[in-house]
Amino acid sequence: LEPVYQFMVRLRIPGGLLTKRQWWGIDALSRRYAERGIRITTRQTVQLHGVRKRALRGLMQDLRDIGLDTIAACGDDSRGVVCGANPFLSRAHRRVAELARVTSDQLIPRTRAYPEIWYQEEGDRKDDEEPLYGALYLPRKFKVGYALPPVNDIDVYGQDLGLIAVVNDGELRGFNVCVGGGMGQLDNRDDSYPRLAQEIGFIDADDAPNFSETVMSIQRDFGDRKDRHRARFKYTLDRLGLPWFLEELASRWGRPLAPARPQRFDHNGDRLGWHRGDDGLWHATLYIESGRIDDPLRARISGLLEQYGGRLRLTTNQNLQLTHIEDHERESLQWRLDDLDLSWRLAPNTQAAHTLSCVALPTCGLAMAEAERYTPRLLDLFQRLKGQYGLTGVPISLRLTGCPNGCARPYLGEIALTGRAPGLYNLYLGGSFHGDRLALLHACNVDEARFLELLAPLLEQFARHRHDDEHFGDFLLRRQLLADRPVSLTYSS
Ligand code: SF4
Repeated sequence: LEPVYQFMVRLRIPGGLLTKRQWWGIDALSRRYAERGIRITTRQTVQLHGVRKRALRGLMQDLRDIGLDTIAACGDDSRGVVCGANPFLSRAHRRVAELARVTSDQLIPRTRAYPEIWYQEEGDRKDDEEPLYGALYLPRKFKVGYALPPVNDIDVYGQDLGLIAVVNDGELRGFNVCVGGGMGQLDNRDDSYPRLAQEIGFIDADDAPNFSETVMSIQRDFGDRKDRHRARFKYTLDRLGLPWFLEELASRWGRPLAPARPQRFDHNGDRLGWHRGDDGLWHATLYIESGRIDDPLRARISGLLEQYGGRLRLTTNQNLQLTHIEDHERESLQWRLDDLDLSWRLAPNTQAAHTLSCVALPTCGLAMAEAERYTPRLLDLFQRLKGQYGLTGVPISLRLTGCPNGCARPYLGEIALTGRAPGLYNLYLGGSFHGDRLALLHACNVDEARFLELLAPLLEQFARHRHDDEHFGDFLLRRQLLADRPVSLTYSS
């Protein structure tokens, strides 16, 4: 007898864009095949948890019937290209989203293996060749993301390859490119660390898909294939050096890059609530705690979609955007949101809107501590603590993960907890509110009480001495309040 294996199935949804039919399809498939509801991930897609092995092929075929698949959503390949900022706000936004879609199509594997295995389609031998990945694929996953300032919602400096849109007079001029970002680390290896991507230059907009392929090909050919942990692109860059990379890039790309152009981010969260695009259509972004959509929320959202003619978009902060709402639909949709007790999600409390957590226990096999299930309690305690110092309305980015792997991009938060053991976390502080500076390890193995004890005096000083509009992470650095040396660097596990 074979054990009852179960799987997590992650969909490929470039840019997080879905039709209503696809959402209803995902809703139905989650009921039919998964143990829990729908979970929106920090890479703008959906995970279904607890799918039994025997049901996998049926699920894949049903996904195909709604125009979705799981190609390159996992594995050592280009992982779902993410695209930040609502693509329907302006012409430039639409263009960036289109380039993200083209890049995703260009970077996914092209062999017929997937349809042969999952759809049982006969393969043609000449389609066996994998032109981009070759026989061995990549040494590890490779993450590409598009951001449109001033919103750094994708945490572009955490991507292997980040493309930052440069827009002048409403026109997309091209992209500043940054390379070598990555969150994952191991607590017990000195040569393992999160890394911020470095800006290396500027490319024309139309070049973005080919440029992405060129950068990925360098990682394919030079990434470490012996030590899997050191196989990410960030380590390739540190091992061989940025000058080496720029030379290799220039020889493959055929020309050096133009200098990066000025651009500025002002936060790395989502713009929740109602916003209107340049074409007059409305878009409403709803807060979804930890991206988790179980019943009754799942049923409410599916019902809500009957109410208007638009589409949906998943965000990299695990939220849900209802898009393309006509003027005449907006009022009735707002009433429906009120009826379904969903309108608070357009403007949740400030702290909730700036908090991210990964799935962790009981679903993720790597988790050492709670994250998603602990988030409501942590949020409540942290909000109360902030309230003691009059900081309730001051946003502070807070990230929580069940292990150091970093799926909720913890090292780019102003405050982050990464799991060490049940109830124990490493505490990181001092990231920037814009997502362009890494947080530093401040204390090891802290429990809830110690976390609050460590934060209280820092928040008190922040309340007293902060400059106008100064963010918590910037304040900690300016006042040199971060520990020179974390409480303990010796781990017991
Ligand atoms: Fe799992 Fe760790 Fe990723 Fe959380 S950060 S989902 S615990 S691998």
